[in-house]
Amino acid sequence: MPELPEVQTVVNDLNEKIKGDTITDFWSEWPKAIKGKTLAVFKKEIVGRKILGVRRIGKNIFVDLSGEKTLYLHLKMTGHLLIKSKVQSRKSKVDGKDYFEDRVNQYIRHKFYLKSEIRKSKSETISKTETQNTKDKKNIKFNKVIEFSDVRKFAKIVLVDTDKVLELPEIKALGIDAVSPDFTFKKFNEILDRKAKSPIGIILMDQNLIAGIGNIYRSEILFVAGILPTRLAGNISTIERKKLFGWIGKILRHAIKLRGTSDSDYRDTSGAPGGFQKVLKVYRKAGEKCQKCDTIIVRETIGQRSVFFCPKCQK
Ligand SMILES: [Zn+2]
Repeated sequence: MPELPEVQTVVNDLNEKIKGDTITDFWSEWPKAIKGKTLAVFKKEIVGRKILGVRRIGKNIFVDLSGEKTLYLHLKMTGHLLIKSKVQSRKSKVDGKDYFEDRVNQYIRHKFYLKSEIRKSKSETISKTETQNTKDKKNIKFNKVIEFSDVRKFAKIVLVDTDKVLELPEIKALGIDAVSPDFTFKKFNEILDRKAKSPIGIILMDQNLIAGIGNIYRSEILFVAGILPTRLAGNISTIERKKLFGWIGKILRHAIKLRGTSDSDYRDTSGAPGGFQKVLKVYRKAGEKCQKCDTIIVRETIGQRSVFFCPKCQK
């Protein structure tokens, strides 16, 4: 499942590529993903709205639209958004490769058709040809499409009132964001004190305590911090807590810089994989040698999900 770095990458891409565009049409082959509205009503309510900006809360994506409405998207297990321009069609290439052709990007369930705003010519004297071009541009129905690929069909789409976003039960329940400036060592320390009897491996993944960290990054953070996932929070010293807190920010920011981890379905809006899977140290490396000490990496299940660690480097 996409975690904070993957969702942040998508949000950054969306702001760069579609901010200011207007939704002109919508298509879906899986309307069940649209919560609380029929396909027809949903389509009617979003068409004509302008995209004002995109933001992230935890692992959730919010696309703010004109008229005080917000599209709430959750990618869940396998969802990812591909932004294609009509002109480039399926030939948008990254490093010379057309990632849209990859199998993982072929499970298109929904399409948002978009039209970019026409930029006014700076020149005061507009020639006849230019006027004609502008007219042509005004007549086009769309020039970009956001295609929502989702093999498992667990992703969800909800249209909500912008001022009600923070009141959504799943958002209200969220803990502090793992890369927010408000997430201080003091706050982290308080969480560990409050959850003294819980294993740290579970605390890090609990979205209602700290939002954004999932299965991949909890293993990586705990490895670099040298702490076993099974350690109870109450048994972790202040020095270790400080070290651990520092690594949460460092690992997540590094992962954002590398555009996330593609260990399975996650892809960015160009259809390209992230880069963090190339620098993973323990995640999905059970049976391989630890890069620091040559001990074999172990996999265990904590909180119903696999956790990977080095039994020697982590105490
Ligand atoms: Zn080791």
